[in-house]
Amino acid sequence: MIYFDNAATTKPSESVIKAVNDSLCEFGNPSSLHKLGLAASQRVAVSRKIIAASLGALPEEIFFTSGATESDNTAIFGAANSLGKRKKRIVVSSVEHPAVSEPCRQLEAKGFEVIRVSPRDGVFYPEDFIEAVNDNTCIISMMFFNNETGARLPVAETFRRLKKKYPDLLTHCDHVQGFMKERIKVKTLFADLISVSGHKLHAPKGIGALYIKKGIHIPSFIYGGGQESGFRSGTESVPLISAFGASIEELSNNMDSRVGIVTELSEYLREKLSQIEGVYINSPADATPFIVSFALKGYRSEILLHYLEQREIYVSSGSACSKGKKSSVLSEFGIPDDLADSTLRVSFSSENTLSEIDELISALVDAKQELVSK
Ligand code: PLP
Repeated sequence: MIYFDNAATTKPSESVIKAVNDSLCEFGNPSSLHKLGLAASQRVAVSRKIIAASLGALPEEIFFTSGATESDNTAIFGAANSLGKRKKRIVVSSVEHPAVSEPCRQLEAKGFEVIRVSPRDGVFYPEDFIEAVNDNTCIISMMFFNNETGARLPVAETFRRLKKKYPDLLTHCDHVQGFMKERIKVKTLFADLISVSGHKLHAPKGIGALYIKKGIHIPSFIYGGGQESGFRSGTESVPLISAFGASIEELSNNMDSRVGIVTELSEYLREKLSQIEGVYINSPADATPFIVSFALKGYRSEILLHYLEQREIYVSSGSACSKGKKSSVLSEFGIPDDLADSTLRVSFSSENTLSEIDELISALVDAKQELVSK
């Protein structure tokens, strides 16, 4: 099997599987006062420390969630709940993941004004976000790398300049596709809130975190026993939290070599694709190397995807996002509809190899001969 769909989810690493197993065996409740409880709460504390360190944050600024969807929802609804009586504007990029764009749509229906900033000729400019923010804005949310094309958004520069002008404005970054793929510290990102997800980073599904800068108040949505400093009640999922910590620890230790491997893979794929007639690369040159989006003009994405699947090569179609619903992201980036409908997304992990790319390329060349173009 050749797995090129790592932006969707990743294979759990051995250290992750071990962490899950170990903490399932040591099954204590972190709130229990006895020895088993203490061991479980220590596991949670260790993971929190690892994730905090990877972002240059304090452990008490990291709150575990069920994944980035919950983190994003908590950030957007939390900002609206805490500041929305006085400040009714929300500014977001037009290419956010549904985990951000859908909460915005819900709030719009309730009277919030949502400004969606679009790229110009495929490029986002800080000035456009800065112009969209006013005194009435409760939150700005920008993703770090777009999940469909890998395009980079100018998050740090925009947030830095906005924080100077509007110190009370909440800044949120959906960092799902950038976390542990580029060294980012909370201080240099100027973000009050950061969402991350475990399963994109070789941890299991169902675990993520929200960084909340010390001093920022985001109201709780889940009340109960007061876990996560009262922010998110409910017995902690110790196996998932331990696994998340284990994956981040491992990835922190080999960040430079992983990024080096993936950069080489990405450059090789781009080069090979450019030699196939009818291929258009959608990802901009400065995109994350972990994602390469391209179109094979004249062939529908789904047909290509299943053709590749028959050869056990797994990629994602570019424009069909959540369960077949068509995403507007590619057209926001200026990619015409016919190319959007022919788009595939390859997303790497450092376990991929150059010879896997050769197999993908020869499968695409065969597809061109065997499949009927649309
Ligand atoms: N944000 C981005 C940019 C994503 O790519 C994803 C997942 O695809 C999410 C949010 C949602 O993450 P999760 O699956 O952890 O809820």
